[in-house]
Amino acid sequence: MTAATFPFENSFASLPAAFYTRLMPTPLPAPYLVAASPSAARLAGLDPAALAHEDAVAILTGNRVAERSQPLATVYSGHQFGVWAGQLGDGRAILLGDLAGAEGAIELQLKGAGMTPYSRMGDGRAVLRSSIREFLCSEAMHGLGIPTTRALSVVGSDQGVVRELIETAAVVVRMAPTFIRFGSFEHWYYNRKHDELKQLADYVIDRFYPALRDEESPYAALLEEVTRRTARMIAHWQAVGFMHGVMNTDNMSILGQTLDYGPFGFMEGFDANHICNHSDDRGRYSYANQPQIGHWNCYALAQALLPLIGEVELTQEALDVYQPEFARHIDQLLHAKLGLNTSQEGDRELLDALFALMQANHTDFTIFFRRLSTLQSGGPEGDEPLRDLFIDRPAFDQWAESYRARLRAENSDDAARKLAMDQVNPKYVLRNYMAQLAIEKAQNKDFSEVERLRALLERPFDEQPENEEYAGFPPDWSSQLSVSCSS
Ligand code: AMP
Ligand code: MG
Repeated sequence: MTAATFPFENSFASLPAAFYTRLMPTPLPAPYLVAASPSAARLAGLDPAALAHEDAVAILTGNRVAERSQPLATVYSGHQFGVWAGQLGDGRAILLGDLAGAEGAIELQLKGAGMTPYSRMGDGRAVLRSSIREFLCSEAMHGLGIPTTRALSVVGSDQGVVRELIETAAVVVRMAPTFIRFGSFEHWYYNRKHDELKQLADYVIDRFYPALRDEESPYAALLEEVTRRTARMIAHWQAVGFMHGVMNTDNMSILGQTLDYGPFGFMEGFDANHICNHSDDRGRYSYANQPQIGHWNCYALAQALLPLIGEVELTQEALDVYQPEFARHIDQLLHAKLGLNTSQEGDRELLDALFALMQANHTDFTIFFRRLSTLQSGGPEGDEPLRDLFIDRPAFDQWAESYRARLRAENSDDAARKLAMDQVNPKYVLRNYMAQLAIEKAQNKDFSEVERLRALLERPFDEQPENEEYAGFPPDWSSQLSVSCSS
């Protein structure tokens, strides 16, 4: 592969100069390819086999800039942990441009390719550990069918990077139609630059939401559509037990995609109040809080769009779609998780009772839902593998009886239900210990485990007997792992 096979355009660069700073990535010594995603490559119209080529690795590191690329870092602001943080921006991300992909134009962004005018106190770098986590989780979320930015590659270098310990540098290439965030809008609103605010909104509508142009109020329509997408994305998160960890408004995509993987986690022993981010001492971004934080973030976006929408009432109406949209989607997703084809009176109580039971027993979220498809509607004979997941067995038996009664009330067919449930309850999710094992090997230059997990998580609903070990409980040592904002 040569530079010519990255035929970049740069749509974002058509915005006025105030939106970004053009700059070159800072090279890293002796980069090596750690991981690549063939499906992400194909999405970008790239040949997966060619990514390992030295010329391609140089581009994926930022050591060499493709001829037509116009690298730039964008400016944005945001609310961090509920507090206005002022200007942030791409402190370590550099947009290379967009490629004509299989599903439309897609931007390629280097993360960790050196300092930018928005780096503040940071060094512009990302460490191998967090880069592998972002790469694997981006592709895992895609495998789960959840809207997300994608990850094309990780390259590493032996150059040291100082965090709590000295680690080594890496660059992830992320992909999305755009990386514009809620905070990109807040930036112009809080700087009282309403012309730029309008330019940004028009750019987003024309390029990503063209159908909204014909609405009576395109800006209110934009807010409503983003609010809906955000609600749906978070319903998906809840349904697989995904916790983002840092739902600041600068990490919320204007496309409703999961963005900025840092101290994320998947729920293991169920605890609705679980906090996956060690730096989040108050639990603002706990599992249970995610839906309402999503709404709060949409409020922040609404505030920023208010000068364009012009009417508080219209703005409020657009925001008001959040709760019903979330409720409808989580209800659908939970019905599917339980293999229920109909909605009946008492379903809410059945679900509430299940989550209370899982909470009291700290039942493993992924294992429970996967095993639930084996329950037989006729009687408790086959309950053992499920029952074993609960300390309070009589409480489980009681719930199982009500679930069985509910299944019979819709004449549920056990075999058909199992097939359907196994399509929505993943057998494999990216548990912290799995990422950790892959990271430790990669730190010793063995990248095989990263590739193994990538391939595994591409098909999380499939039985993969050779990977059975990853369908089980996490090892005891994994409870000692802690992930924080340090990345
Ligand atoms: P995050 O919490 O990762 O979403 O980052 C919040 C802000 O800090 C963003 O503007 C990032 O670009 C910036 N940032 C995070 N880490 C670094 C770093 N090592 N160097 C420069 N900027 C950074
Ligand atoms: Mg961020």
